[in-house]
This record gives sequence, structure tokens and C-alpha cells, in this order.
Amino acid sequence: MSRTTPPGSSGPAAPGASAPRTRRAGTALALALAAVALAACGKEGSPPVKGPQPEELPHYQVATGFRLNDSPTWRKAAKRGHFVVGAKEDQPYLGEKDPATGLYSGFDIEIARMVSASLGLDPDGIVFKTIASANRETALQNGQIDYYVGTYTINDNRKKLVGFAGPYFLAGQALLVRADDDDIKGPQDLAGKRVCSASGSTPYQRIQQDYPKADLVGYDTYSICVDNLLTYQVDAVTTDNAILTGYAAKAPDELKVVGKPFSEEPYGIGVPRSDNALRFAIDDALEANEKNGDWKKAYDATLGLSGVPAPQPPPIDRYPAS
Ligand code: GLU
Repeated sequence: MSRTTPPGSSGPAAPGASAPRTRRAGTALALALAAVALAACGKEGSPPVKGPQPEELPHYQVATGFRLNDSPTWRKAAKRGHFVVGAKEDQPYLGEKDPATGLYSGFDIEIARMVSASLGLDPDGIVFKTIASANRETALQNGQIDYYVGTYTINDNRKKLVGFAGPYFLAGQALLVRADDDDIKGPQDLAGKRVCSASGSTPYQRIQQDYPKADLVGYDTYSICVDNLLTYQVDAVTTDNAILTGYAAKAPDELKVVGKPFSEEPYGIGVPRSDNALRFAIDDALEANEKNGDWKKAYDATLGLSGVPAPQPPPIDRYPAS
């Protein structure tokens, strides 16, 4: 089978994957973004709305003769000829699926691609599957995906179920509100407010535990939350600043990110828990791509477009096999 659809081809919807958004749920955000796009086109000299710029993306060298026989996941992928990778499809600049072409793009997608190349498999062959926050562990445990790259926080609870290579990025929890909202400036202002997050996510759990007076609602995806914010059904959306900054950058007249980050969310690449060989090989791949400049190039062409300059990547935590 040949695949010639960089920067990311799509696979069939995975069982347990995020349920497709309802028509209504996607409408307000789509309209807001379309309005922004129209406004940008209409004004003379205004810059176009920015999306990932494929021409500035790195070209990852596929490692030749690479073998990882100790990894059952790698052996299966090598036999198949490509990796199957879990990702998000509605997170601007991080993991986005173009509804017209089915192609995935964003910083997480580039991380998935550089890893595939370092592990000897053509990144253009990757089949991406959209998996919601709440379904990641199951997808890795039942072999639906080989690895997962999608704003996935490394923590001890999750480490009981899956392995984590990385971290490759450090985010922190923040809040997204409507641009004209002056009431909510931080999590201390959430009492009695309707707050939306993705079920199964660490930001959802933190609000539940540390801010129990907030009126918390959970959906499959953050884009549904953002839609609810734009239509006044919730007062705030909470998740990682990296995700929220992307939504705000696409609709700056309607949305703003407020408050200092109030958690640490180190992003890891999820792998099957027992496949330590794969985990360590991905750690090596991340380190190599950070050293050769491709990590920064990828960041600048994707997440960097939301307005935050490239940070230093966090040190890799190569924790021992258990
Ligand atoms: N990083 C957080 C988590 O892994 C929030 C983002 C997400 O849901 O993917 O739960």
C-alpha cells in the first residue's frame, strides 16, 4: 500500500475513538473562525490567518537499517510497513485534522513523524487515529495504536497503565474565557461558574479536586467546550495553556486566555506499558531531534504560530523499566 499524503494521513475511525462532533457542537467555533478568516481577508494589508506552514516543516531523515527486535510493537509496525499513531484532531497548532483532506498537522503530529523516521519507518506512511483524552490508555492497552502523541500529560497514575517516553514539552493548566469577560481571572474565581473540560483529562480532575465549587461539565473534546463557551452555555474552558492559546489565537476577538498556569503538564509519548524497548528508543529519537534542530524547526512551524516562542525542551525522564 502506498501512502503519499504528508504531513499526516488519516486512518479509519478507531473503535473507542472520540465520537464525531455533532453538527451543532462544531458550528459556533467554525462560524467564529470563519468570521475571523473573512475579516482577515477583507482588511487591506492584514496578514492571513496562520496555520501550520508545510514548507517550513523539517524533512525527517528515515533511519536506514534500524532494527528494534526487542520491541513487539516495533516488530508489528515494521511488518506492516508503518506506525499507527493516536492523536487529537481538534487542537489548533498541536493536532488538527483537515476535514477536506483528512490530513493531520500540528506540533504533536510533527513529534509523531520525527519519531517514526528515527525508528526507521517512513513518517508519510503513518496512519493517524483520533483518540479522545478518556480513551488513550485503553487504545494503548488493546493494541489499537502503536504510540500516542496528543498533549498527553505524564503522571504516576497513568504510568500504572501505560509507558511514557519524553517529556518533549512542558505545558500548564490555564483558563479560556470570552474576550469581554472581566470576572474570571484565575481558578479562584470559578465558584458557581460553569467550567468545561475534557473528561478523563488532568485539568478536569484538578478542578474536581481543588475547586469543588465550580460547576464542572465534561465532554469528549475541548472544541465542544469552546463551542459551548462561544454560545454562552459555559463561562470558561480549562485545559493546558498550549491548547487554549491555539483556540484564542484563531478567534482573538472572541476569546482570551487568563491567569498564570496553575499546574505542570509534561507531555509524553504514550506507549504500551511493557514495551520498554520502544519507550527508550523513542527517548533516544526525541533527544536526537532536539539536538539536530528539528524539534525547534517543527515547533516554530506549528505551535510557534500561536505566538509563543520556542522554549527549551524539558529534559527526558528515562525512568527505569518496572
Ligand atoms: N495534558 C492534559 C491531559 O493529558 C490535558 C490535555 C488533554 O486532555 O489531552 O490530560
